[in-house]
Amino acid sequence: MSDAPLFGKVALIGIGLIGSSIARGLKAVPLAGAVALADRSDEVVARARALDLADVVTTDLAAAVADADLVVVCVPVGACGAVAEAIAPHLKRGAIVSDVGSVKGSVVAQMTPFMPGHVHFVPAHPVAGTEHSGPDAGFAELFHERWCIITPPPGAAPEAVARLTRFWQALGSKTEVMAPDHHDLVLAITSHVPHLIAYNIVGTASDLEQVTESEVIKFSAGGFRDFTRIAASDPTMWRDVFLHNKDAVLEVLGRFTEDLIALQRNIRWGQGDQLFDLFTRTRAIRRSIIDQHQDTADPDFGRARK
Ligand code: NAP
Repeated sequence: MSDAPLFGKVALIGIGLIGSSIARGLKAVPLAGAVALADRSDEVVARARALDLADVVTTDLAAAVADADLVVVCVPVGACGAVAEAIAPHLKRGAIVSDVGSVKGSVVAQMTPFMPGHVHFVPAHPVAGTEHSGPDAGFAELFHERWCIITPPPGAAPEAVARLTRFWQALGSKTEVMAPDHHDLVLAITSHVPHLIAYNIVGTASDLEQVTESEVIKFSAGGFRDFTRIAASDPTMWRDVFLHNKDAVLEVLGRFTEDLIALQRNIRWGQGDQLFDLFTRTRAIRRSIIDQHQDTADPDFGRARK
């Protein structure tokens, strides 16, 4: 087997949680001969240099992608079109261009018109994250044992899809191929609407006038605390997710609202059997998530005992 890295040069645009985690992963696994990072923010670039995240760190997107064999766009979903337009004239012939956006249909629609015919555009979404953002938040193990969903457009070159798949697998991910619309519906129910529910419950609690904020914080271990972790996620990223996955989120939210009203009726009319049946079904789902190593079985999500 050849020891040559998978790509001569990899360029990452956007040095936040995801971009800096990939950069750290590339230090741990030699997949690239050279790595260039670019971000629009001088402050972020200075921090990434101080952290020694790559060979080249710059605010010049064109210079970063020049000669790159793989370009991964790691900016909020709403900025993907502008980044595609900025880098398009500087892309190397035959390069693979990908992204990490949490929404796929909109990213494909935004980026495709700018992609030159001589590059391979293969979007992807690593389903791995935390509530933190910025270059300090990243870590190489972020993708370990997590799914990366690859959404190649019809007619994508199989060799380009295979190389991007190998890239994510070498960073520790399990990979799956999906159509963008299906991805957006699956993520609406598994990620986007749960985040919206967390933002909403934390907002409701902070508006409750009869309960003081200190009580909300003091007694938060009753369940509220777990919502606050999700509701601490990056406001820019999540604003863009909801604006760009509007149809699927509204579809799932419609179903959710109907089910919530049904629960409200069950409580009002004392229909304990219905509540018990649902809570039994949901407990089984939690068990399958643990069985598939997607979370810890420890009580209280593995928090250290006090
Ligand atoms: P992040 O930590 O906020 O970092 C994004 C970086 O991109 C910031 O430094 C931002 O700079 C920069 N940026 C924004 N617009 C830009 C532009 N036009 N040109 C160059 N740089 C630009 O975000 P993240 O959490 O890494 O998320 C990045 C992408 O990954 C998003 O599309 C998100 O949907 C996806 N994703 C996130 C997670 C997660 O849990 N966080 C998980 C999976 C996928 P400014 O600060 O100046 O705006």
